[in-house]
Amino acid sequence: MNVRPFLFLHLCLCTSVIAALPSHKGIRAGAAEREITPTAGLEIQHYFRKSSGVRDPLFARCLYLEDGAGNAVAIVGLDLIMGSFEACDQLRTEIREKCGVTHTLLNFSHSHASAALGPRGRTRISNDSDSRWNDRTLDAIIAVVAGARKQAEPVSLRAGRAGVQVGFNRRLVNADNGHVFMGVNRKGPAVPWVNVLVADSTRTGKPLAVLFEHAAHPVIAPHTSKLTSADFPGAAGKRIREVLGKDVITVFGQGCGGNINGFPLRSTHERAEEAGHRLGEAALKAIRKSEAIKAQTFRVKSAREELPSAPLPGRELLAEMMDLEKDNPGRMKQLHRIQDLLKRGEKPPARRFDAHAVMFGREWCLTTMPHEMFCQYELWIDEQAPFKRTMTFAFTNGYQGYIAVDQALTLGAKGGYEAGRLPNWGGQVYTKHLGPPAVGAEKIIKDTLASLWPRDPENSLKE
Ligand SMILES: [Zn+2]
Repeated sequence: MNVRPFLFLHLCLCTSVIAALPSHKGIRAGAAEREITPTAGLEIQHYFRKSSGVRDPLFARCLYLEDGAGNAVAIVGLDLIMGSFEACDQLRTEIREKCGVTHTLLNFSHSHASAALGPRGRTRISNDSDSRWNDRTLDAIIAVVAGARKQAEPVSLRAGRAGVQVGFNRRLVNADNGHVFMGVNRKGPAVPWVNVLVADSTRTGKPLAVLFEHAAHPVIAPHTSKLTSADFPGAAGKRIREVLGKDVITVFGQGCGGNINGFPLRSTHERAEEAGHRLGEAALKAIRKSEAIKAQTFRVKSAREELPSAPLPGRELLAEMMDLEKDNPGRMKQLHRIQDLLKRGEKPPARRFDAHAVMFGREWCLTTMPHEMFCQYELWIDEQAPFKRTMTFAFTNGYQGYIAVDQALTLGAKGGYEAGRLPNWGGQVYTKHLGPPAVGAEKIIKDTLASLWPRDPENSLKE
């Protein structure tokens, strides 16, 4: 057999592949930040109120990572309450076109003393000055990604975890009637740790960025205050920089804090700072005991699914409710929507579920999800994902409300603010989905997440 033509072809292929690759080996990282605080007079949420000033500034921050095989990801932390799928899709497309970064993960810290991000030219609140702030913020985020990418330099990565809890589970069950109500449930599930990823510059030997994640609603700053604030995540980043140096960019990612409230709820700005200081101290401890990630390449995988909404109430119940609520325009609007769907024989719209995973071999995985995910999902990922260490974000790349676990969804009308449905007015009945996700959402979510992970243990170890 003449092997020469085959050998020649083989050499050509190898040469062309090598030519297409970036010229460096190993991991490179860059980080950048910009202030995005709305000016006084703009609406902050939640609850909605006009801001009268700034307690502490809001930032857009980015950790950009790339490897020698052409993989790249921009991990963006925003001191903002939320961003719609429309806004995130548009922004990620702009970043792809203007910065050449295919994968961008936009995490919203969910601070309730900040603002929401909308698509260009429009915000949730249609008011001219807000839309100008919104467009400026979109530009700032693009600039932050471009800046982080431009500064990319060789790094080594390390990851760690330390115990800490700045909040508690907020769902309690009324023993008399089985209804879930909101309070401080110290025994309920929570994510009792902070995860960190540190990028150390090979050139200086010093950290250039710290990515850290914890799961809790930033709701310690009082809703009666008219001052904009990043709440505890802002204070945590500040503490990390006090110790590691002000040049270190600290990127916060909100975890699955859908059913966790920062503690004490809506108290004072000082208490938010104390909680942040404590989280920052725990992150520093996690950094001190962090371990090197040896993988010199990584993979980014994405998956999209739909989470069906809970079934609509029957005609009889609807008629009863319309009679009961006839003097309440907000509720009647939702009941009319339900009536229209029932007439057309249609179901309420599903929720979009986009999951992403950034995977360094079997050593480390960042999993991201949209929405306000219940903490049980983060705990499940940590237990089931085939990686030595995990970090998990919710509130990423889009938002359509709370995603409970099936155990809560099964409670039906008794499911409380995050999971309840008619005849009780849980928060999700007021959305375009007219109720929470249907029972069974948990399996769809877990199957989608598992589809991102390596399946074959031997092959994945070689990656
Ligand atoms: Zn929330």
